[in-house]
Amino acid sequence: MIAVVLGAPGSGKGTQSRLLSEKHRLSHVATGDILRSEIAMGTALGRQAEGYVKKGRLVPDELVTAMLAARIEQAPKDDYFLDGFPRNLRQAEELDKLLKRWGGRVDTALFLSLPASEALKRLSARQICAKCGAVYNAITKPTRKPGVCDVCGGAVVARVDDAQETAIQRIAVYEKETTPLLDHYRRRGILREIDAAGEPTQISRALEAALADFWDHRDGDGNGGK
Ligand code: AMP
Repeated sequence: MIAVVLGAPGSGKGTQSRLLSEKHRLSHVATGDILRSEIAMGTALGRQAEGYVKKGRLVPDELVTAMLAARIEQAPKDDYFLDGFPRNLRQAEELDKLLKRWGGRVDTALFLSLPASEALKRLSARQICAKCGAVYNAITKPTRKPGVCDVCGGAVVARVDDAQETAIQRIAVYEKETTPLLDHYRRRGILREIDAAGEPTQISRALEAALADFWDHRDGDGNGGK
């Protein structure tokens, strides 16, 4: 199964995708996480991407698409949770082409819906472990020890691109570039909208329900309309 997770920066895509992938043993691919790690390692890709990420702009499609293709090619038959890709219609088309090579397709698009004002509020309090990527919130989910990751002991910091001006820019980019994907997947009949304004556990439950629904229907199709 290939699931794409859509939503504004701060809607909880990363946290929720990570939880669900662990639970259902799906491969979680977060293009933002991969880019941050390439930047931290100072690779050629990281150096090319750094300026865009820091300014809250999209990294050029060719770079991100090649990066994603390389990741999927490592295990093309896995089930995937794609978090942060596609970000625009062009990437969605490239993803279709890529998956077609292995007889796959996007099966479900899970949309975490959140008003921009709430997304911005969350980004201003968000903290992230520089080592393992675990996500915290200074108000609603602080680390046990200030600045230290509960999971791996790494340093927990605010993301540079969560600074207010950059966060505003990222939300604007999301609205212009990414929201057309909602209609794109809605037209295919695979968009599931989930209210992301509630508590993380509530959102997890809603996502679980959407996935269960997808699996039920798929199994039904596969068994002659059971
Ligand atoms: P995220 O962690 O998903 O919020 O992504 C952080 C940043 O990485 C974004 O603001 C972009 O600069 C870059 N990025 C992540 N995914 C993509 C993508 N699919 N296309 C272009 N840029 C991306």
